[in-house]
Amino acid sequence: MEIETWWLLVLPLFFALGWVAARIDIRHLLSESRSLPSSYFRGLNFLLNEQPDKAIEAFTEAVKVDPQTIELHFALGSLFRRRGEVERAIRMHQNLVARSDLGKDQKTLALYELAQDYLKAGLLDRAEELFLKLEHTQHAEAVLKFLLEIYEQEKDWQKAIVITGKLESVTGHSHQKDIANFYCEMANNEIMHSRAEAARPHIDRALTHHRLCVRANMLLGDLELTQGKLDAAVTAWKRIETQNPEYLSLVSDRLFRVFKQQDKTAEGITLLRGYLAKYPSLDLLNTVFDGLLESQGAESAYALARDELRRSPTLLGLDKLLEAQLLDAPAERRPDLELTKTLVHQHTRSLAMYKCDHCGFRARQFYWHCPACASWETYSPRRTEEKGLPA
Ligand SMILES: [Zn+2]
Repeated sequence: MEIETWWLLVLPLFFALGWVAARIDIRHLLSESRSLPSSYFRGLNFLLNEQPDKAIEAFTEAVKVDPQTIELHFALGSLFRRRGEVERAIRMHQNLVARSDLGKDQKTLALYELAQDYLKAGLLDRAEELFLKLEHTQHAEAVLKFLLEIYEQEKDWQKAIVITGKLESVTGHSHQKDIANFYCEMANNEIMHSRAEAARPHIDRALTHHRLCVRANMLLGDLELTQGKLDAAVTAWKRIETQNPEYLSLVSDRLFRVFKQQDKTAEGITLLRGYLAKYPSLDLLNTVFDGLLESQGAESAYALARDELRRSPTLLGLDKLLEAQLLDAPAERRPDLELTKTLVHQHTRSLAMYKCDHCGFRARQFYWHCPACASWETYSPRRTEEKGLPA
């Protein structure tokens, strides 16, 4: 009996306490939400309904009504930038930077956002200046990546190398392959301007940073060629086999031209046929095909295309075989062969592409630096249709 009485007395008290607590919470919530302008909630509603234009309008109004809403300024600024309204983003973030009531972290964040606005607007000098100030903040890793993006755009490879080194220490990940490519860019630039001797140290450094840097040996071969050292050029290009033989297809034409220039066509064909047997690829096939056609005639070229098609049945191989058949086809068979060849060729045109392994971007030309995702050395030297087929 005693226990029941106790319960009867205490239970209403619990209910009363719960009711008071709930009222306090609700009052607190109501007072907080009343302090935000109604346009803020309209903005949120538009955002949830995926109407960013109207959301921006509503948020802009909310900011005007209550300029104290710092977080909203940040949100609006980055929303402007993402939508490409860079000038408005810059104004928004400049206002934030100029405010005196910002804490240290908020000030840093405002500068970081402003730097990104400048980068998006293409104002690289201003972006670089701000990012350099933010190098030792909590945004260090992202800042270094943005700086690298700027130096890559400006083709300032020396600065790109320094920043990549810093990025390695911050992230603990190796970027030696990228650094090797920056040295290759510098070497390439020197070769283009006929400053062969200035190119050589860059090539050496590329290989020091990344022993398997195929591009360095390709450039070394090009460099030796410009100086008339044909044997040295061949040696440099042949070294690619020990680094990554798939890339031999990228130098097959140059190799053949140098052998031909030295009146060693047969030797060149033997070397390239050996590569083709071990590392089949369309580019190697094309070079050997043209070499055979030129030195031994249509029959040899046709036999090569037929054997390769048997070994690796691809449409690109069929295209080559039809080309070989057309070379000495009798007049009455030519129209049919030409029609088939045109049809196959129209189809293979879209197949013979290089593809970035990182972002999937396809291009007719081989790139060391992907124009779509800006990654280094992510293109396979084999054209897309060849990939995944039995070697
Ligand atoms: Zn890519």
